[in-house]
Amino acid sequence: MGNILDEVLKQLPKDKISEACFEAANIVLYTKDKEFFLDNKGSIKKIVDDIKKRVELRPDPKITMDQDKAEKAIKKILPKEALADNVIFDPFRSIVIIEAEKPGLAIGKQGSILKDIREKTTWVPLIRRTPAIRSQLIENIRAVLYQNSEYRRKFLDKIGHRIYDGWIREKRKEWIRLSYLGGGRQVGRSCILLQTPESRVLMDCGINVASTEEAYPHLELPEFNIEQLDAVILSHSHIDHCGFLPYLFKYGYKGPVYCTAPTRDVSALLLMDYVKIMKNDKKESIFDIEEIREMVKHTITLEFGEVSDITPDVRLTMYNSGHILGAAMSHLHIGNGLHNLCYGADMKYGKTALLDSAVDSFPRLETMMMESTYGARDKIMPPQKESDEYLKKIIKDTLARRGKVLMPTLGSGRAQEIMMMIEGMVRKKELEEISVFIDGLVWDVTAIHTAYPEFLTSNIRKNIFHKDLNPFLSPIFKRVGSKKERISIIEDEGPCVILATSGMLVGGPSVEYLKNLAGNKKNSLIFTCYQGEGSLGRRIMNGDREIIFKEGQKTEMFKINMEVHRLEVTNHSDRAQLMEFIKRVDPRPKKVILNHGENSSCLDLASSIHKTFRIETNAPRNLESIRIK
Ligand SMILES: [Zn+2]
Repeated sequence: MGNILDEVLKQLPKDKISEACFEAANIVLYTKDKEFFLDNKGSIKKIVDDIKKRVELRPDPKITMDQDKAEKAIKKILPKEALADNVIFDPFRSIVIIEAEKPGLAIGKQGSILKDIREKTTWVPLIRRTPAIRSQLIENIRAVLYQNSEYRRKFLDKIGHRIYDGWIREKRKEWIRLSYLGGGRQVGRSCILLQTPESRVLMDCGINVASTEEAYPHLELPEFNIEQLDAVILSHSHIDHCGFLPYLFKYGYKGPVYCTAPTRDVSALLLMDYVKIMKNDKKESIFDIEEIREMVKHTITLEFGEVSDITPDVRLTMYNSGHILGAAMSHLHIGNGLHNLCYGADMKYGKTALLDSAVDSFPRLETMMMESTYGARDKIMPPQKESDEYLKKIIKDTLARRGKVLMPTLGSGRAQEIMMMIEGMVRKKELEEISVFIDGLVWDVTAIHTAYPEFLTSNIRKNIFHKDLNPFLSPIFKRVGSKKERISIIEDEGPCVILATSGMLVGGPSVEYLKNLAGNKKNSLIFTCYQGEGSLGRRIMNGDREIIFKEGQKTEMFKINMEVHRLEVTNHSDRAQLMEFIKRVDPRPKKVILNHGENSSCLDLASSIHKTFRIETNAPRNLESIRIK
């Protein structure tokens, strides 16, 4: 493509541009001419139409107003009703981020307030929604980006050069191959390497939490070379997809991690929790907080539907996968139309209380990579309505006998789904106004949900944007922040519902609650997620009613007298939904590759798809590579 920056500069009046650089796939121009910054007379739009890339004009950092003065000016311009109290400067990029509770009011009619800020301060204002629930943890994660403003500017420019400066590897050859470093015929440690003659892209890099021997992806695979890695695509924030990412940074990776903004925030939070748990258990952690910070520093966030070049021959677009907040299917347009591949990762083809259904329509599609967690033919889940009724009945019955309901959950996804189910029942008056206690990590992840309502169902969005009705702010939800509060809920609080991690009862507050609530038959325990082999949750689900805990020299025995239930809800597609997805996906792929499922599930689904739709299928094992073009 030649030197794209020179081409852009050629089309602009001389001496107006002080610097031209990249921010990943986007082009940013800086000017010292304030008049030109405020009105470029359509010259930038003409270039955008011409080269079909995003081009942004910003004031040179040298002509921006002094930060203190600018902050005062901005606060004077913003209407009080916008409730904007946080102003953050990104000085090396001439951007000022303004957090407002009412973003629409801070933007103004047709952007009039933004225009005013540009004129008076010579900064580029970006308005962001203040999370309805604040969390110091989340603010600390985001602060990593601002504290490294200068590094980020250089880093993003370097990525742009890799994308636009032409090929660096073998040319005039056409092939594409996928290698399974993890997640082949298994649930856990998802990690797949995509190679083309020019590019090396890793899709997910997870940990298998259920196993200690086979926990990490096969980075020893001969085709994997960390120094040649161009990019990582992260589908979502579950540890079995992101858990090994900080390790890459520990061993020298300095490239980009593409994901959505909620995925960046939630994965940083879950990874920090992972390190904390390892340290509490006196196990050696394979990475530390410093490497999680490095990961955040190197993220490039994309919105759903935003098309972005990530290497000279790979173009990425992320689509909603319906699995958890910010979870994405990654569509890759490879080799200028040579092949189109979609990595579906974990997906839910069906609407839930929290998220819209996975996208099933793409501009082009030849190969579909799909999960098969519930791919076996007997894995059919009851309809959402039935789960709703079941949950309602257990809660009602338990409260009627003045007991407590304990629901061990994963930090992200299922917990918020259940919160929305219960909130809906209370709002529709199908259930009395109960107290739902949200413990520890679940609360912080919920707070992130309130920062990104645009990723939630159209129904929740409508309620938040137009009716000022945020279901997460319902008074039924109460935070449990300390051990003391936990004890008072167990001892003093009357009938209530408790959501706490971990979901499989393998440590965390859920185990503490269990020890105290297990003996009383008025209480109920409801399992809400997959219970891994060897976990305490699996033992109880299988009928074990006498539990022995060993802590140092001390041995304690607990009798499980409380009622034990299992709620059949999942944020994965069940067998019927997976088949329905292949039936409806447009265009129909020529090849389907199955992964993220136990051996029999992958094979069963592969054979059914082949028989029903006459599509070529494949279920690679770990360490196998397949050529897709
Ligand atoms: Zn997942």
